[in-house]
Amino acid sequence: MSTILQNYDSNTSSEDEENNPPAPKRAKRANSDYVRKQEFATREESRMAIIQEKSWKQRSVKASTDNKRIYYDCKWSRQCPVKMILQIPNDCEAVLMFQSVAEHNHELKTVGLNEDTKESVNALFRVGVRKPNAILKALREKGMEPKKSQLENYLKHLRSKQGKKHNECA
Ligand SMILES: [Zn+2]
Repeated sequence: MSTILQNYDSNTSSEDEENNPPAPKRAKRANSDYVRKQEFATREESRMAIIQEKSWKQRSVKASTDNKRIYYDCKWSRQCPVKMILQIPNDCEAVLMFQSVAEHNHELKTVGLNEDTKESVNALFRVGVRKPNAILKALREKGMEPKKSQLENYLKHLRSKQGKKHNECA
């Protein structure tokens, strides 16, 4: 009597779980193309890391009975073989990051100015050279060729920083 009641109450999914063999713990094929790159304690941590890396574009999400996988492409090109997968097990908060063992098949676009250029801009900014064109000219004399838009973004950042920090004397 009690078993009939149980069967009646439980939905079909729990029955399926009993009848089907357990899914393999980890797909073997993922390891041939992907290496485990990082582990995050929480989903929030992984989310922040991806935002900071600025190199991924989410493509798809696949959920299975054991985990959820979020697939990312290289942000710069979908044809690029560099891919990343976040694996989130259903039974814990931790997130595993796998990255494909591949090289970018395109030139890496730099996001913003490189560190050397930033330092030069900082130095010019400090002595009062603040117009983008004047800074560009000075940078070119040093052999640096940043894009004007990158420079303008960075100057915006410097100005906002200056608003908060009033004393930055050497
Ligand atoms: Zn790429």
